[in-house]
Amino acid sequence: MALAEIQTAFSGNPLDRADHLRTDPEIFGDIMGRDDARVVLLAGEGGTSDGRIKAAPGTEARILTGPDGDIAWQKPSKLRFLPVATTIFLGMDDGAPRYGAMLDGKAEDFGDLFEADHAKFRDGRGIAFKLGGPHRCLGMIAQAKSMLLWHESHRFCAKCGHESNLTKAGYERLCPACGASHFPRTDPVVIMLVRAGDRALVGRGKGWPEGHYSALAGYMEPGETMEEAVAREIHEEVGLKTTRVSYKASQP
Ligand SMILES: [Zn+2]
Repeated sequence: MALAEIQTAFSGNPLDRADHLRTDPEIFGDIMGRDDARVVLLAGEGGTSDGRIKAAPGTEARILTGPDGDIAWQKPSKLRFLPVATTIFLGMDDGAPRYGAMLDGKAEDFGDLFEADHAKFRDGRGIAFKLGGPHRCLGMIAQAKSMLLWHESHRFCAKCGHESNLTKAGYERLCPACGASHFPRTDPVVIMLVRAGDRALVGRGKGWPEGHYSALAGYMEPGETMEEAVAREIHEEVGLKTTRVSYKASQP
């Protein structure tokens, strides 16, 4: 399967992640000060507007987007006037540096600041629905949100409890007390469509809007393959025995 043929939501990140720049001492200096540098702003999610359960602090974030749903990129100089919790380097977009910054506070506290630009903070799913299909900004949003939320929830060393420091432009946290390195984590999930003949089985969560259904999904566990996770989750959720599993694609 050619890479360009695989189009799942949040895939197709156009950035060159430029690993060699992550240790460049100017990554948050001269490179960030360039005229073509831009930053995507994120802020914590402070409640629910669409019936979903309120997220625990540091586990959800909203992204500053324009009226069309695309990222409302800002000049990094704007960060001087905002309370910033964490800044990371995302990569190069056709040679132009791109960053992500998590604001220290809830999205609703900053909304007024960007009204003149008609920009507002939206959640990732809302952006994907608004764009209505594959879009080059979605992979960058997935990258920025995953990385920045990881920093929010992993400030302290898991080995000794000391506060760790952001290094490698955001791709590592290093503990100054015990020397342990910590890397951004991803939590693998399987999403599967259960089929029997020409029928498909879908489910719905308590409290979902009327008429909303979804394919089944669940977290992978240590010591199992993706296919085994699919069979286990289907059995746990609906009690069915799986006879055959086929792989379709992956997504960020
Ligand atoms: Zn430590």
